[in-house]
Amino acid sequence: MNNLSIAIVGGGASGLMCSIMLSRAGFKVCVYEKNTKIGRKILATGNGRCNISNQNVSLSNFNSTDIEFVKYPLSQFNYQKFQQFFEQLGLDLVTGENSRVYPMSLQASSVVDLLVYEAKRVGVEFILNTQIQLVKFENDKFILEYGKNQKEFTKVIIASGTNAMPKLGSSDSGYKFAKSFGHNIIKPFASLVQLKSDCIDTKSLSGVKIDSKVDLEINKEFSQSALGDVLFTVYGISGNAILDISREASYSLSIGSRVVVNLDIFPNISKDILISKLTKRLKNSNDKDKYFWLEGFIHKKLIKFVIDNCGIKKDKSKADELNRKDIMSLVYFMKNMKININDTKGFETAEVSAGGVDVSQVESKTMQSKLQKGLYFTGEVLDVDGQCGGYNLHWAWASGYVCANSIIGL
Ligand SMILES: Cc1cc2nc3c(=O)[nH]c(=O)nc-3n(C[C@H](O)[C@H](O)[C@H](O)COP(=O)(O)OP(=O)(O)OC[C@H]3O[C@@H](n4cnc5c(N)ncnc54)[C@H](O)[C@@H]3O)c2cc1C
Repeated sequence: MNNLSIAIVGGGASGLMCSIMLSRAGFKVCVYEKNTKIGRKILATGNGRCNISNQNVSLSNFNSTDIEFVKYPLSQFNYQKFQQFFEQLGLDLVTGENSRVYPMSLQASSVVDLLVYEAKRVGVEFILNTQIQLVKFENDKFILEYGKNQKEFTKVIIASGTNAMPKLGSSDSGYKFAKSFGHNIIKPFASLVQLKSDCIDTKSLSGVKIDSKVDLEINKEFSQSALGDVLFTVYGISGNAILDISREASYSLSIGSRVVVNLDIFPNISKDILISKLTKRLKNSNDKDKYFWLEGFIHKKLIKFVIDNCGIKKDKSKADELNRKDIMSLVYFMKNMKININDTKGFETAEVSAGGVDVSQVESKTMQSKLQKGLYFTGEVLDVDGQCGGYNLHWAWASGYVCANSIIGL
């Protein structure tokens, strides 16, 4: 057993990885977790299936104010290393759409159970139901305070995540600990989050899910696109394509920019083909009402919305009163549906928090603070966040791995 005593604040993804590596190397490791169970957030990932990594993980999938910081951890813990580590624990993997990787059981609980089993097997001590309130450094030792207790350690790893989805135990305490050692915090904002709209008409579409191309517009300028499902809700829009553009939307809203989402609800059908399809439909409309002739073509709830909002004159009541200009307006509307975004659903429902501990004050080869020797940061608490697709967990594993190896001296 090594003489160093190491405390890890947070029994989530990065804390678990780090604790296993350190304990395997003979270090005495104590993990403090405020929840009554380890890895509660992991259990909620990938809708309970845990999108644990991505076969195509690369630097381009991450965001940070200094993206160079991410390079070393990714090179040390690439997809092959990830696969090796988890298969050794007994976790078989499967790859789904967009190279997303899941446990073969498609159960996030398999991931947590195997990690906890290994951690206990190699001697990690878990102190559950214990929220660390203060981390300080006195007389060459770190002191962790919780309740009326305090304990001394030679090294401390802050793996306490962020305040994204607090109902799972997330907290911003990592930022507080970092600040108390003089660290700068890049202002956190919600990412991979649903978007709110003040557009009253879309509320009638609540529950409608459509495959769309999403174009994000910031201050009237095109910003980025995504393809995938979009779900209308009472508050606004959600779905995979929305999560994909949500980081940029969230950041832009936080600095007061105007955010609009443009939906093409027929991304695989060209304008011309749509026009000819609708023209044919109109010819065969057989005295149908203007709200009924699209029945069987688009979702029932969408029909009234598109007819009322595309610019067709209100006094028309029958389909056969519509003309070519109306069809053109309809097609234009369905391929450029504008939804004004006025907010996000915030940290309450966000999967990730962007921003965090400024990486310019942390060494990327060790995850050690440049301001306080013996203090380390891993996972989401750092100013690194990934796109949707298994990248955030990959970052948690990679940063935990690099941190542990630097302490071990590898
Ligand atoms: C609903 C949801 C779905 C997601 N799905 C995916 C996905 O499919 N794929 C993916 O890659 N990413 C996903 N993510 C993101 C991913 O889960 C996180 O990025 C990752 O878990 C971060 O790991 P971490 O170790 O930094 O923090 P966490 O896993 O959040 O662990 C931090 C731990 O620290 C504990 N803690 C906090 N403060 C204290 C304190 N003061 N004292 C003691 N303990 C403390 C917390 O209770 C928590 O258990 C999802 C997130 C959410 C919310």
